[in-house]
Formats: sequence, structure tokens, C-alpha cells
Amino acid sequence: MITRFAPSPTGPLHLGHAFSALTAWAMAQASGGTFLLRIEDIDQSRARPEWEALIYEDLHWLGLEWPEPVLRQSERLAAYDTALDKLWADGILYPCSCSRRDIEAAASAPQEGAPLLGPDGVVYPGTCRNTQPRTGMRPTDAVLRLDTAAAMAQLEAVTFDETGAGPKGETGEITTDRAAMVQTIGDVVLARREMGTSYHLSVVVDDAFQQVSHVTRGMDLFEATPIHVVLQRLLDLPTPAYHHHRLIRDAQGKRLAKRDDARAIRLFRQEGWTPDQVRHEIGVKSGGFSP
Ligand code: GLU
Repeated sequence: MITRFAPSPTGPLHLGHAFSALTAWAMAQASGGTFLLRIEDIDQSRARPEWEALIYEDLHWLGLEWPEPVLRQSERLAAYDTALDKLWADGILYPCSCSRRDIEAAASAPQEGAPLLGPDGVVYPGTCRNTQPRTGMRPTDAVLRLDTAAAMAQLEAVTFDETGAGPKGETGEITTDRAAMVQTIGDVVLARREMGTSYHLSVVVDDAFQQVSHVTRGMDLFEATPIHVVLQRLLDLPTPAYHHHRLIRDAQGKRLAKRDDARAIRLFRQEGWTPDQVRHEIGVKSGGFSP
């Protein structure tokens, strides 16, 4: 088994990250497998070396180890380009010039009904789908969206194996049909203008490259998983098993976010907590652990 923890170095790790990393670690340990760390730093406007250094410190303090060198996504842009070139050549990507405001306005136009929310926010209403050229050289400084309906026309059912659970308790074999892909997920962005890639594309390319067999992550990403499976099919990559885990919440029941500095692992360390106390706080047993 190969698992991974894939944080973005855009802020301090908090207790939710500790839980995620410990879950991936425990699953790998239990099977005699390998735990990988990957730095997801494609957003160079937000990634900072000091946050990356703190990730290593916090995880070592928790007792985790991983093979070096660590894969950093900012060094993988050529691999993402190759993947985008293939999808472009297949005619299923198109450039999009809509701003966030354009999308919200088009999606909430009276004839559209209430705007649908997908894994990336408002489901794209399709404004640029048939107005932009899809031939010639792939534009490298444009936003590129997946034409999900065109992609789905080439694919069998989108299915993955869930060993944890989604937000509604979804587990086992999860299937998303063509209509749900088109209506509730829609034309997701696969290349952002300033990055030349996107979270969805990079995560799929790198999980395959690193031969990750079990993707462990918070259940807030469960709804994005069908997008990842579609990309795996389109790029001829294997589909790993997915293990979505519960989210760590604050005293008010709100899930932790990067800005929740108060729950940063660093602060617990500075206050003299032990790694075992942190494990206990998030409900992870110090010895064996069944996620
Ligand atoms: N980099 C993502 C994050 O920090 C996690 C990606 C994943 O586990 O698929 O939220």
C-alpha cells in the first residue's frame, strides 16, 4: 500500500492536517506499506518556503517519516503540460475568459433557476463552451476547462472504491453517472492562467506518478473525486482506492481551515503539548490506530 499526505504550504498545519497525515501514516504502517509526503505548491502566489519548512517540522514532531526527496508540484509543470496537451489534442478542453463575477451572473440568470453548487463552487454555466476555438496550439496563458459532456461521451461509468466515507456516509463502490457529472460537476477548470495547471489535474497526475494505491484525505474532497476518476480514464491512469476521513471541527462544530491559527500544530508544540496529547485531542490512539 502507498498512501500520501499532500498539504499546500500556504499556512500552518492545524489539527485537521495532523489527523489526515496520521490517518495516511497509520494505513501505510498497518499494511507494511509506504507513507509519502507531497508538497502541493502550484499556487506560487500563496506558497511560502517558511510554511513548507514548518510542515516538515510539525510532521517530524508527530513522529512521521517519509522517503526523500519529497515531490514538490512546482517542479512537475512539464508533466502537467503533457497531460493538458493530450486532453487538448482530444478536443475536450476549451479556453474560458469568464471572471468569477461573469459566472455567478450567468448562473443566477432568472431562466437558470437557483445556481447549482459543485465541488469548485458554482457549476459553470457553459458560456465559453462553444464560442472558443479548440484547435491549433494549446493556449498556455488561458484558463482551460474540461468539456465534461464531451469527455463523458467517451467513457464508461465513473466508479471508484471508497474505503472511508463521504459526507452522507457513502462507502463501497461509488458510481457517478453521466448526467450527474454534467449537471452537478460540470466543466471544471483544469488549467488556471497563472499556474498552467490546477489542483484536479496535478493531484491525478502525481498520485499516478507516485503509484499511490490509497488516497487518504478529508471528506470535503469526496465530491471532487469523480472529477479525478474522469481524468484518470482520459489520461489512461489507474484509479487508486479512496479513503475519505472525518473532519476535525472546532468547539463550535465548524471545520478547521488554514486561517484557524489557534489550532495550529505549532502552537500546541510551543505550549508544551506532547505528540500523544495531540493524538488524543483528535481521537487517534497512540499505539495502533484503525482509521
Ligand atoms: N493539497 C490539498 C489540500 O491541502 C489536498 C489534496 C488531496 O489530498 O487530494 O487541501
